[in-house]
Amino acid sequence: MAIRKIVKFGDEILNKKCRPVEKFDEKLFQLLDDMEETLADANGAGLAAPQVGILRQICIVDVGEGPIELINPEIIGEEGEQEGAEGCLSNPGKYGIVKRPMKVTVKAQDRNGNWFQKTGEELCARAFCHEIDHLHGILFTSHASRMLTDEELESGEY
Ligand code: ZN
Repeated sequence: MAIRKIVKFGDEILNKKCRPVEKFDEKLFQLLDDMEETLADANGAGLAAPQVGILRQICIVDVGEGPIELINPEIIGEEGEQEGAEGCLSNPGKYGIVKRPMKVTVKAQDRNGNWFQKTGEELCARAFCHEIDHLHGILFTSHASRMLTDEELESGEY
């Protein structure tokens, strides 16, 4: 396993659409393991393959219950609404107010190519949306109603 370098906002790779994964092989396992180590090291809630320079439909979400690997994911259900602060490991220290569904169901493949469904609420739902957006070249800043100021960040309210 190895920690990979996280691409930062401004790099055009983050605006590109990812291609589906077709081969569920050793190379994919290596990438997933590296992404998990990178995510844990950065202490984030999610990481998408383009953030480590790979234009494939792969992302990981970890909201404290261990990593969920999502390959070729698609959102198949949304319920409710939540509004709150959201950030990105590719844009460190910056947060915006983003509206997301309260509950999201995704359909995805696991590392062996088996399809499964998973429903997440609150932070998990937010992370599913954020990471799947990355696979379509969409960044959270395009959804943000506004960015938080340094004073707001320091206040600890968000
Ligand atoms: Zn992100």
